[in-house]
Amino acid sequence: MLNSQLVNEPVWLTTLSAAEWAELATSDADLLANPDVLIVGGGIVGLATAYYLTDLGATVQVVEARSLASGATGASAGGIWPNEEGPSHPAAYQPIGFLGRDQWGRLAVRPGFDFDWRVNGFLNLNAERFAPSAEAYSAQAHELGFSLKPVDADQISRLEPQVANGFREGLHFPSEAHLNPVKASLSLARVARRGGCRIRTDTRVVGVESSANRIVAVTTTAGRIEPRHVVATTGWTLDWLGSAAPPKLPLRPVSGQMIATEPQSPLLKCSIGGRVLVLQLKTGQIVVGASQRENSSLESDSAVTAEFIAATREIVPALRDIPFRRVWCGVRPATPDGLPILDRCETAENLWLNCGHFRNGILLAPACGKLLAEWIVKGEPSQDVSGLNGMRFQN
Ligand SMILES: Cc1cc2nc3c(=O)[nH]c(=O)nc-3n(C[C@H](O)[C@H](O)[C@H](O)COP(=O)(O)OP(=O)(O)OC[C@H]3O[C@@H](n4cnc5c(N)ncnc54)[C@H](O)[C@@H]3O)c2cc1C
Repeated sequence: MLNSQLVNEPVWLTTLSAAEWAELATSDADLLANPDVLIVGGGIVGLATAYYLTDLGATVQVVEARSLASGATGASAGGIWPNEEGPSHPAAYQPIGFLGRDQWGRLAVRPGFDFDWRVNGFLNLNAERFAPSAEAYSAQAHELGFSLKPVDADQISRLEPQVANGFREGLHFPSEAHLNPVKASLSLARVARRGGCRIRTDTRVVGVESSANRIVAVTTTAGRIEPRHVVATTGWTLDWLGSAAPPKLPLRPVSGQMIATEPQSPLLKCSIGGRVLVLQLKTGQIVVGASQRENSSLESDSAVTAEFIAATREIVPALRDIPFRRVWCGVRPATPDGLPILDRCETAENLWLNCGHFRNGILLAPACGKLLAEWIVKGEPSQDVSGLNGMRFQN
């Protein structure tokens, strides 16, 4: 199949059962007129926030402009890789990264949750990433509290027999995991709904009314809501807030492309990072990505697809004969330091921000959702989140 003939569709949609498709199409008919909390945005961050708020007894209304997980969430790779990503981030990343990993592990075994959780480890073979040596990089990362070990050529081929010969060293992250981000979103929505949360899709927030430093009403395409609190989980855009939007928040869109095969019999044990990321889903598809472009385009680029395929075949020779069938793009919500904004807003005291999760929103969604829910319901989060405030960009 030629690159230009790849089907333009995220792989995740091909993994859903009939019941999950029905859930994706479900929209609660009535809007709650006076919920404790209105969540704007039905990606994984909004749905995780809704789940934890409902769990703490709040009445919650979610409003999503399109369908659930139709933004960055449904385009992502589903990686839960706090140790692999960690050392390159500011210090505020580690506690929320570890909390996110821990929460996903707990949710995976709770009733109502079903999201293809797979703890298969991550093997990083990209020598540029761990220069000058895997040994030295590991020692530094251990000092910072991350979990990994340096591996040599023999260990690499034992950990992942499909990797090409010639990789002399690498990093192994044994506790890194993986999930299906659309099924995870549906699970959060399902369990939140059972707790009384209302989730309305195909409904856009178009404006807010403020008075005395508070949002008093929110206008949606399905009617007006007067919530006690409003949570913005709309990724990189806050245009619906109009003049209530906090000034100078440097959120920006960064587009990313991925490709996938049809389901294959089990081939890869670990997720692999080389010139590209290569992983096999629990449902069998091999997924490869991801590019980074400073724009909000959802148009795939056939040159990027060709580059992905060439790089993949260099890392995993067995993939030479397996065609890629799907290509898709998504738009990451980025901030200058790559960390999210989790904060109470200075422009309106009942407006909360949980946005800008960039490359790690799937990992961080349950951590940020849990901590924000505690902050709103109990008055403070159980972990310090001051390193994630919006003011850090004001200087
Ligand atoms: C190619 C790619 C690979 C990635 N891989 C990973 C990975 O492996 N691991 C990881 O942790 N992260 C990964 N990410 C990042 C992750 O996908 C994002 O950080 C995360 O999905 C952000 O979630 P969100 O809910 O904030 O945003 P979104 O999923 O974009 O949700 C925001 C929602 O708000 C809605 N909305 C916007 N405006 C309005 C309005 N006015 N009214 C109502 N609704 C509105 C949108 O329709 C959208 O559904 C990847 C991203 C991409 C693009």
